[in-house]
Amino acid sequence: MSSSKWPNDYYCKKCGSHSLLIMKKDKDKKVCKYCGAELFPFPEECDKYTPDKFNEMLEYLREKHVKTSPEFDPRSFKYREEREAKNRAWWAAREAAEAAGKTTSPSGSPKVECPYCHSTNTKKISTLSKAAHTYMFGIFSMSRNSKNFHCNKCGADF
Ligand SMILES: [Zn+2]
Ligand SMILES: [Zn+2]
Repeated sequence: MSSSKWPNDYYCKKCGSHSLLIMKKDKDKKVCKYCGAELFPFPEECDKYTPDKFNEMLEYLREKHVKTSPEFDPRSFKYREEREAKNRAWWAAREAAEAAGKTTSPSGSPKVECPYCHSTNTKKISTLSKAAHTYMFGIFSMSRNSKNFHCNKCGADF
C-alpha cells in the first residue's frame, strides 16, 4: 500500500519542492511548479512523521530521496530555495501589515497586493490560524485551498 497519511502531498526529485495536490486535475498533471519535472507521492516512511514534524520530514525527504535521486539538479534545488525564501519574506511582510492594521497603523502600512493584476483593492477572506500559518511556512508551495484574499478589481482569489 502506498502512503496513506499524506495522500495529497507530492515532491519533486529534481529541485526538492513540495506540492499539495488537492484537486483531481492537479493530480493528473503532477508537475513541479518550480522546475516542471514530474512530482512523486511521499514515500511510505513519511507516515511515521506527524504534521508538526513536517519540516523535519521535508528535510529527510530532500536528503534521502531528492539529493540521491538521478533526477536531482543542484541548480534547480538552489533556484527553488531562493524562490521559497522570497515567498517567506512576502508572507512575513503580509503578517507585519496585518499586525500593523490591528493597532493604529503607521502611515501607509503596506496593503495586500493582487499577484495577478497588482491592484491593492483587495479584501481578506479568512484568517489563518497560527498553526496553519506555521504549517504553510514550511510548505509554501501553495495549495489551491489556501486562498485568503479576494481581488476586487480582477476577481481573483489568492
Ligand atoms: Zn522541481
Ligand atoms: Zn487582481
